[in-house]
Order: sequence, then structure tokens, then C-alpha cells
Amino acid sequence: MDIEASVPVPLVAYFSMEICLEPEIPTYSGGLGILAGDTVRAAADLGVPMVAVSLVHRKGYFHQHLDEDGNQSEAPSPWSPEDVLEPVSPHVSVSIDGRTVRAQAWRYPVQGIGGHAVPVYLLDTALAENSEHDKTLTDYLYGGDDHYRLRQEAVLGLGGVCLLRELGITEDVCYHMNEGHSALLALALVEGQMASKGPEAATDEIVEAARQQSIFTTHTPVPAGHDQFPISLVREVLGERRAALLEAAGCCLDGRLNMTHTALRFSRYVNGVSMRHDEVSSGMFPGYPVNAITNGVHAVTWTSPAFQALYDKHVPEWRRDNYYLRYAVGIPLDEIQQAHTGAKKELLAVVKERAGVALDKDTLTIGFARRATGYKRADLLFSDLDRLRSIARRMGPLQAIYAGKAHPRDQEGKNMIRRVFQAAAELGDTAPVVYLEDYDAALARLLCSGVDLWLNTPLPPHEASGTSGMKAALNGIPSLSVLDGWWIEGHVEGVTGWSIGDSVGTSSDSAVEAASLYDKLEQVILPLFCQHPKAYAQIMRNAIAMNGSFFNTQRMMSQYVRNAYPAARG
Ligand SMILES: *Cc1c(COP(=O)(O)O)cnc(C)c1O
Repeated sequence: MDIEASVPVPLVAYFSMEICLEPEIPTYSGGLGILAGDTVRAAADLGVPMVAVSLVHRKGYFHQHLDEDGNQSEAPSPWSPEDVLEPVSPHVSVSIDGRTVRAQAWRYPVQGIGGHAVPVYLLDTALAENSEHDKTLTDYLYGGDDHYRLRQEAVLGLGGVCLLRELGITEDVCYHMNEGHSALLALALVEGQMASKGPEAATDEIVEAARQQSIFTTHTPVPAGHDQFPISLVREVLGERRAALLEAAGCCLDGRLNMTHTALRFSRYVNGVSMRHDEVSSGMFPGYPVNAITNGVHAVTWTSPAFQALYDKHVPEWRRDNYYLRYAVGIPLDEIQQAHTGAKKELLAVVKERAGVALDKDTLTIGFARRATGYKRADLLFSDLDRLRSIARRMGPLQAIYAGKAHPRDQEGKNMIRRVFQAAAELGDTAPVVYLEDYDAALARLLCSGVDLWLNTPLPPHEASGTSGMKAALNGIPSLSVLDGWWIEGHVEGVTGWSIGDSVGTSSDSAVEAASLYDKLEQVILPLFCQHPKAYAQIMRNAIAMNGSFFNTQRMMSQYVRNAYPAARG
């Protein structure tokens, strides 16, 4: 499915603070980085002209260790780009804290299905000519304090544009800011406009010219996801002149540099990542029109080997064009069941190996894995342990597999992990619950393909999209989810999965939602799973045909190509 010649696409320069290139390269923390990697993979598949820029993160995010009570401790997760990647020759300079910081870039080529490659450049300040301190600026993803973070964002935004210029990438570029971390790239564009338009040009005219070069995707309604820096810190790091420029351009809010506002101010097109998130973001950013392009996942990356083989047999075009997954309606149900049994067996073997727990292959297995942070409510399933025990005893056995890292400073997220451990201890063998350490993309692949039901319990309206349920759908796993984010679009009750609660709301009552969760398990899902396996397999097949065929990054990328990347007309 090559991009139609009728849609002229400029070269897209995709900027992201994190990106998952391979599970073992620790340059990502969660959904945002996974999405960035999947976006680049889809662009390569579709032949979209794109380059991507991120940081090298030599010490990674972190390895998670959990003790027997669920207390999390963290260890660095270092990697050496020199062992696997080639450096590119131009080095760049960024003025930070009044000093010149030099950076080089490592090139990772992402190869698409038809051979088109998208190069990803990972900026790295660990160069001999830098001070010991500046050498560490590209070490830790989301580590350090505000000062460290702002300097990293300067390397990403300013250093990134500078690198592309050094590589000869200047004309007709659309800069795509994946979240606000890279918004300082706008400064480089403004300075470029000033240089070409001359000293007489009015500020408005220069800002507008820079604005026409960029688009912005916002990813979260959660305040912690929107970086802000005191203006005094901005002066110190970027210098008086650049700080004044950002202030004059309207990038500050309440005396702080706001990266989301900077990105909004400097983008000709802004989008949220689901229909619902578009509505929520429009309310958050009055004065800025926000559009919707719902996220997806890279289908081949997230489909288990067993289902890959099944699709290759029945819908061989699916790798090149994911829309063909719509034809999964024709796959015999027993083959779907067989493929799933294979994926489940593989997951249970890993659970045995990593946690020493032998789960039962015939028991309804619930999966829950994502960043451990408050609004995701990993513990909602355990709101009423007596009720859960009673459901497990009367309606059929059930078991659950959990995973997820809490950001090292997220105490609420860490408490949530402890509560899951506590519930697991109290439930014992009545409903076995296993929490696997060190959630990463490799484990996500196993979990999102090996369980029987994918549980999603965010506090609405905080889930901008959510993507792990999409990975599950590609593997024939239905979701049981709160109506928030992508599920509002993907949910057809009893057809593609089930909702928790029955309406889309802005307020939420955890007790009511927990009761709905238990009702669905007790009255609908367990009876179906235990007594009508063919009917359950029918829902699995619908999840593939209806949701797998749409909630993928090939569809998402073609929407960016049609709606976001082309320069404004007329
Ligand atoms: C897909 C994925 C996520 C995102 O999951 P959500 O459901 O969007 O919260 C986070 N971490 C990893 C490792 C993933 O693979």
C-alpha cells in the first residue's frame, strides 16, 4: 500500500524524546516510545519520506526489581551504541548554560516491508571535548531534575534541527513534535527564519513562518505529562536572548515556560490521539483547534508467531496492507483457537521460568500490563476481594498476570504495585495473581498475545488512547475496559469485547466501576469462556477483523499523510 501520488508529502522530521527501536535497546519507557517506534516502522512500510530524531539514553530508563512485598528498586540499564550502530560524521553544537555542548548522532535504519528505510538519529553528548557533566546529558531517559531535563530538551530540539541541517535536510521539511519534549526545535526554526528574512522582519511574521513548518501531537491530559520550567532556569540554560524570544512568542504560562504551549504556539496542525482525547484536549487548550488521529500499533511487530503464521496462510497480504486483516472473518474458529493456545503456552512457560509459578493452561487468564501510575488503577480488580473469590469459586477459575514499572519518583505508582502484591497474597490459590518484573516490549509481546482477556481500567478521561489493548486485538484477545481512549471507538459490546460501566463519562466512581467489572466477569465473560468456547472464539475473531484491521500504525500513518503532513493549502 504505497502512499498515493496524489498526496504530496514533504520530508517529515519526527522528533521524540523516547523511541523503541528494539526491545533490548533501552531508549523507551512506555507507551509514548513504543508508539514512536511503531510510527517509524509504519512510515518505512508505506514509503513515507521521514527521518527521526531522539536521544541515545546510554543508561536507559531502568531495570525494575520487586521484592516479595512488591517494593520496587531500580538499577541502570546501560547499553553501548558503538556495539550496534554507526555514527554519522557531522557533529553539532548547542549553547547550554553559556557553554558550547557538542553532540554526535548514531544512525539506526528502520527497514520497511518494501525496502524503504527511515533513518533514526540518536543524539549523544558523550564526547571527549565535553565537560564531564555535559557528557552525561544524554544518559538517563526521564532522569534527573528540571535543570537536567531542560538541557536534554535543548539537545533534542536545538541539536536535532542543527543535525538535520548539517545532513543537508533543510528544504520543505515538516517537523513533527511527538509530545512537547522536543518543542525547543521551534527556537531553531525561528532563528532560521530570522537569518533568511533579515533583521527588519516583524516578530509575528517570523513566528508564523516557523509555525508553518511544524505539527504537534499531544499525548496526555495528565498534568505530569506537560513539562514546565521556571523562566529563571530557562534564562540560565538557554541564555537571555532565547528566553526573551520564547516569552515574546507567548510560550510562557504563569511565569513558566510551558512546553505544550510552545508546541501549540508553533504548530500549524495539532492532534490528540483518539476521538475522545481530541475533545478533552480541545477543552484544555482553548484557542487552538485540535484534530483527532487515533493511535495504532505496528501490526507485524505485535502479532505473535502463531498468529503471524495463521494470517500468512489466510490473508497473505496483511503484512504489506493491514486492512486485509478485515478478512480474518473468514478464518475458521478452530484455527484461531489453536493459534491462541500456542501463544498462551509460550507465555505460561515464561511465567514459570521468571516467577516460578505454574499457571493452569485452561483457566481464564486476565492480563494487565502498563506503566504503574495512579490513573491506570492496576488495583481496581481487587476492590472487593470477597466478591472476586466468590466469582472464582462459583463461575469458574480465573487467574491474572500483571506487569508494569513505576517511574522512580512516582510514589503513588509504587504503592499501587504493593497493593497488587498484597491482593495476590490474600487471594492465594483461589485466584492466582502473578506480577512479573521489568515490563518491557519483549514481555509486552508475550503478554498481549498469551492471555485470554485484556483488562484496562484507567480513570476517565485520563487515557488519551492506550495501545496495549490494540496489541491484544491483533492476537485475537478481547478487552474488558473502561470506556476511555481508543476503546470508545473499538468497543462493540459482546462483539469485540466488553465495557466496564456503560457510558462515556467525565467523572468516575471506582466502586461503581469495580461492580460493573465483577458483573461482566461473573455474568458474561466466565460463562462464555467456560461453557461456550466457540462463542468466545467468535469474539476473538471479531477483535482481529474489526479492531486489528483499523487500530494499527499503517492506518494511523496514512491519516497523518492525508491530514497533517501536507502544507496548508491556499
Ligand atoms: C504497549 C506498551 C505500553 C503502553 O500500554 P498502554 O496500554 O497504552 O498503557 C507500555 N509499555 C510497554 C512496554 C508497552 O509495550
